[in-house]
Amino acid sequence: MIANRGEIALRVLRACREMEIETVAAYSEADAEALHVQLATEAVCVGPARAADSYLNQGALLTVAKASGCDGVHPGYGFLSENPEFADACAKAGLIFIGPSGDAIRKAGSKSAARDLMKAAGVPVTPGSDGPVSSVEEALEAAEAVGWPVLLKASAGGGGRGIRRCGGAADLPAAYAEAKAEAAACFGNDEMYLEKLVLSPRHVEVQILADRQGHVIHLGDRDCSVQRRNQKLIEEAPAPGLSPALRQAMGEAAVKAARAVGYEGAGTVEFLVDGDSFYFMEMNTRIQVEHGVTELVTGVDLVRQQLRIASGLPLDIRQEDVRVRGCALECRINAEDPEADFRPCPGKVEFLHFPGGAGVRVDSCLYNGCVMSPYYDSLAAKLLVYGGTRLEAIRKMRRCLEEFTLEGFPTNAELAYEILFHPVFVRGRCTTGFLDEYLPALLDFSRRVGEREADT
Ligand code: ADP
Ligand code: ADP
Ligand code: MG
Repeated sequence: MIANRGEIALRVLRACREMEIETVAAYSEADAEALHVQLATEAVCVGPARAADSYLNQGALLTVAKASGCDGVHPGYGFLSENPEFADACAKAGLIFIGPSGDAIRKAGSKSAARDLMKAAGVPVTPGSDGPVSSVEEALEAAEAVGWPVLLKASAGGGGRGIRRCGGAADLPAAYAEAKAEAAACFGNDEMYLEKLVLSPRHVEVQILADRQGHVIHLGDRDCSVQRRNQKLIEEAPAPGLSPALRQAMGEAAVKAARAVGYEGAGTVEFLVDGDSFYFMEMNTRIQVEHGVTELVTGVDLVRQQLRIASGLPLDIRQEDVRVRGCALECRINAEDPEADFRPCPGKVEFLHFPGGAGVRVDSCLYNGCVMSPYYDSLAAKLLVYGGTRLEAIRKMRRCLEEFTLEGFPTNAELAYEILFHPVFVRGRCTTGFLDEYLPALLDFSRRVGEREADT
């Protein structure tokens, strides 16, 4: 059973079909016409559009899985994918949860507790509070100890939510209250911890695979530094410009991190890179949006591996078999309006054309005439390219964005196009502050190009 929607539901379905595994799509009323619903062996509606009533409705999902004779449940990303109670409930109902055990999710899931675990395992972590901070006073004390500026972060956080920057003691009460309120609203859990704000770091993460026989390998790194408000926009593999020693140390640290929580399945260990130092940030216990760039440079189908591991098979790749070749880029195309502070603006797809050609991959559940629902996140398509060199990949992505056509609602595609020409990006020097710094200039440039086109 696929307990998710959108492009990731389709991605899982495609892997299942190639492996001749029958699928049940558990969908909400808003997704009755979704592509994965049409392509699944069976499809069952589990509730109304609101995620709480459908994609997060554990009782309904388990009932459908049992009644339709499923062996396992793939949770995709978001929704219930990092919910340890759901993983346990699947196991209790005799269903294989396609992901790590509830216990491993619990260990990695509290970002504050995970830091302690990683420290003990010898993985470097960002300087920060020892465990959670439960009041403004405690936060102040921890901040004074690590030094300003700091980031207040939700222990249960994800998707860039529940994070606030804080420059000094005067800002702390407001930042603490805001982050706590956002965490309560997004995750139903407002526990906070605190980290030193690393200035101009890069976000580099390592993909890992672990089987149920105790083998753990990593599949190299990805750079996801092009972010807006802590949310990723463009990702690439491998991370540009890492020294071989740093790369190897991060790969080994990721394997240690996975072992420290007793990990099984596909997962990601996220690090901040500051010069030649790196710090553990969090572990994502699921398939990630940007997994495709790793697939393109390693030739490993990560969803297929998830399904193999879940069915008890040992890994069929050894660490020494993993070869990273060339360069892959991904642009997330979101239904949002960069001109209106990135307001989500999904709607009906009036016309759609996806690019193709050698080394091009598009993961999207959109088709001509379909409607993107306002109930869910605004990811419309992922454009991925593979090139023998980084420059080749950049040129290919520019060409793809020139071809890509989506009419019906605004997207961030033009912004992505501008980024691909920015000298900082082209040189592979982006830090997580890149987009915030250059966004006004990038938007201004695409506006002027638009006006020039309108004139001619
Ligand atoms: P990735 O690194 O895979 O992009 P993100 O943290 O951006 O991971 O989250 C992936 C997807 O899951 C995004 O669409 C995000 O909105 C969603 N998501 C992440 N965490 C949560 C959560 N706790 N609850 C609901 N959705 C989430
Ligand atoms: P989430 O669970 O929401 O993905 P993360 O802990 O992965 O949260 O942080 C999201 C982003 O915030 C990172 O990719 C990075 O850009 C930024 N960030 C997180 N922690 C720090 C830090 N200590 N210093 C600087 N930037 C950070
Ligand atoms: Mg993260």
